[in-house]
Order: sequence, then structure tokens, then C-alpha cells
Amino acid sequence: MSASDGAKKPAPGCPICGKPREEAYKPFCSKRCADVDLSRWLGGRYAIPATEEDEGDGASSGPREAPPRTH
Ligand SMILES: [Zn+2]
Repeated sequence: MSASDGAKKPAPGCPICGKPREEAYKPFCSKRCADVDLSRWLGGRYAIPATEEDEGDGASSGPREAPPRTH
């Protein structure tokens, strides 16, 4: 939800790696990234991809939206 208009923002990509998301795995780009996110939610932080950066970035502070559950 962005109240600012005029700022052109790119299409939302995979929240894990930023690649274009696939319909089959949205909002992720692949099962791998979906699995990574799932692992995080499960409390496991051992399945992070190599592209993962430190979680110290201010963009990820605060509660984030829960991904759609597929079951
Ligand atoms: Zn991805």
C-alpha cells in the first residue's frame, strides 16, 4: 500500500531473490525460493540462498505479510 504516486516502481518480484515470479510458485520465482521462505516461517534459517543478505536492512523490519498457504 503506497500512498505516494508518481514514483514508478518495478513489478513486484520474488521476495527472496527478486526475480520475476512464476504463477506456479507466486509470489516466488521458484519452488526453491518458496521453500526458503517456508523454512523461515518454520523457524529454520539454514535454507537461505547464497543471495541472501544480512537481515539488518531496515526494509525488512517489522511484521511482514504472511505468504499464501498452499494446503
Ligand atoms: Zn526467487
